[in-house]
Amino acid sequence: MTASPPPDTGPLTAVARGVVGLADAAQSSGFRLPYPPSLQLALDRVVLDGLSRRVAVPRGVPELLVWCREREPREWLPVPPGFLTDGSRLISRTAIEPTRTCAELASLGPDGVLEQEAESLMAKLADSCGSIPRFAQCRDFLIHRPVVLRFDPTEMLQPSRAQAWRLVKDLYKPVPDHFPAEGLVHSCSGCGLLAKADTADGPWCEGGCASEDRKLDVSHQPGQALALTRALRLFVALPGRTELEVRSRLGPRSGPFSVDLGVHQIPGPGRSPRAYLVYDRAQPVPAALRAAEVAERFGGHLDVVVPDRGAADRTYRRAFDRALPGGAQVRLWSVSEFVTHESADKTRSEHA
Ligand SMILES: [Zn+2]
Repeated sequence: MTASPPPDTGPLTAVARGVVGLADAAQSSGFRLPYPPSLQLALDRVVLDGLSRRVAVPRGVPELLVWCREREPREWLPVPPGFLTDGSRLISRTAIEPTRTCAELASLGPDGVLEQEAESLMAKLADSCGSIPRFAQCRDFLIHRPVVLRFDPTEMLQPSRAQAWRLVKDLYKPVPDHFPAEGLVHSCSGCGLLAKADTADGPWCEGGCASEDRKLDVSHQPGQALALTRALRLFVALPGRTELEVRSRLGPRSGPFSVDLGVHQIPGPGRSPRAYLVYDRAQPVPAALRAAEVAERFGGHLDVVVPDRGAADRTYRRAFDRALPGGAQVRLWSVSEFVTHESADKTRSEHA
């Protein structure tokens, strides 16, 4: 069994890593010079690939970035059929920020960057915490507060927060200068992540909330705003919102198991524990490949739980299931399905 991305997606994932590298290279640069080496390498790879396939190639980094924004990757990069959903872009056309698709692709394969960064930071945090309950408390702190719009040191020194804040404060950085506009910085109350109030399509947020779920909070003092790094915002805090709902509906039976991967476990039938992981991802195929990797590393069956809105999309579910490598012990559930199934299991075992 292999959970690696298809071999011909190399240029695609390289461009995704380059775009994320550029956006995160300097707090203030946004998509401007100087370009990080990962982006220059991605351009070289795209040009080589284009020459070998005899297709048009971008004439430089600026044109490559325009293509990331204006064109679907399959229009100019080798992308296996059905690998990405229709209409995908690597850079949001209106917010001019890397898309969730871009971040998910940047995390694929042995050279993946973002999700791996999140895992590494969480493993370090677990070491610093020294105990699972303290780590769980700190992880929940990050999930509840991926963006702190108005940092108030006295609030963080209150007894209920002081210990967690001492352990997590280095994971927060100033909000990158390409987010505030006209002296205002926004976050989204739906996903809790950074947002932009005024794009050509209206408000935009990093978590991809539906417009009816998206209400923006605002601060007039961008200098006082802090945010987790992109890796933690997208791969810990975003699915964490859904995970909090799953855990609250399952009750105290659910507990952390693998700290870096975010895998939780719950007693299963016959008291053997079941492992589950909550995902909130735009792309079902890369999600399935990553889930298979996690299941293989974890060495057992893995239930992947996604928000109801994602699982309700039959196309998403079909693409996820089809992308699982043969032998992968992964099953996709919506939150409602998973909680209902687990509650029924609990009732059965209590009456057995
Ligand atoms: Zn949102």
